[in-house]
Amino acid sequence: MTIIDGKIVSEKIRQDIKKEIEKLGIQPGLAVVIVGEDPASKVYVANKIKGCQQVGIKSFSYALSESTSEEELLELIDSLNNNREVHGILVQLPLPNHLDQAKILERIEVKKDVDGFSAYQMGKLALGQPELTACTPSGVMQLLKEYGIEISGKNAVIIGRSNIVGKPMFFMLMQENSTVTVCHSRTKNIKEICQNADILVAALGRANFVTADMVKQGAVVIDVGINRVDGKLCGDVDFQAVKDKCSFITPVPGGVGPMTITMLLYNTLKAYKLYGK
Ligand code: NAP
Repeated sequence: MTIIDGKIVSEKIRQDIKKEIEKLGIQPGLAVVIVGEDPASKVYVANKIKGCQQVGIKSFSYALSESTSEEELLELIDSLNNNREVHGILVQLPLPNHLDQAKILERIEVKKDVDGFSAYQMGKLALGQPELTACTPSGVMQLLKEYGIEISGKNAVIIGRSNIVGKPMFFMLMQENSTVTVCHSRTKNIKEICQNADILVAALGRANFVTADMVKQGAVVIDVGINRVDGKLCGDVDFQAVKDKCSFITPVPGGVGPMTITMLLYNTLKAYKLYGK
C-alpha cells in the first residue's frame, strides 16, 4: 500500500510553475476577493496569497467588509475583468447571505475564471475541451498521474455530485477513459457500488463514511473530504481501517488538500498562456 503524498506532489508542481514563469519572463496576476470575517476563509486567502508569492504570481488582494453591497462587489469584479495585469479572479466562498453568490460568480470574465466554476469552463470540460478546470478534482487527477495510476478501462466511483468536486471529477475521469459511477445522497446500495470500484473518490463531507467493507482489495482510494471531529481533521474515509486493503490511498490532511491551491496557481499561469497576452 502506498500513501499518496499531496505535499510532495504539490511542491513539485509549484516548482515547475515557478520555473516556467521565470523562463517565460512573465508575471501572471491573481486577484483574491474576500468579503467578511470568516476565519477559515481568511486562512485560505492568506495561503493563496502566500502560494502566489512562492511561484512568482502577482497577487491583488481585496478584503471587503461584511456590509459590502452587491453593487460594490460587482463594480470591483468589473474593474478586475478590465485590468490587464489580472489573469485570474477568485471570490472566496461562502459569501455573506445578502449577496447573490451565483450572480457574483457569473460576473467574473470566463477567461479569468481560475476556479473553473463558470458555465463556459464547466461546459468546455463536459465537451472534452478543458481550459480552466475546477482545482480540487484537477488536483486529484494530478495525484493519479504523478503516482502512475492507470485510469483507462478502470471502474471509478465518485461519492458526491457537487458542482465544485463530484461533477467535474466525473468528466475528468471519463475523459481519461474510466467507466464512472456517481453516487449521492439518494443512491441505493452505495456499499455494493463502491465494492466494484478500482478507483474510489470520496467527496461527500461525512467523516469516516467509507469503511473497509466498502472497499475492493487493491483499490485506489482518494479522500477529498475535510471534516472536523472533536477538533481533529479527518476525511470521508476511515483511513486506519481502509488503508491495508488499498493499493494507494490519500491521507487527510496531506493528500488532496495541498493540491487545491497549487492547481489554482497552475490555472492562473494557464489563463495567462491561453488568453492573457
Ligand atoms: P457538498 O456541496 O456538500 O456536496 C456533497 C455531496 O455529497 C452531495 O452531492 C451529496 O448528495 C453527497 N452526499 C452527502 N451525504 C451523502 C451520503 N450520506 N451518501 C451519499 N452521498 C452523500 O460538498 P463539496 O463541496 O463537494 O465537498 C465535499 C467534501 O470535500 C467536504 O468535506 C469538503 O470540505 C471537501 N472539500 C475539500 C477540498 C479540498 O481542497 N481538499 C475542496 C473542496 C471540498 P446530494 O447531491 O444528493 O445532496
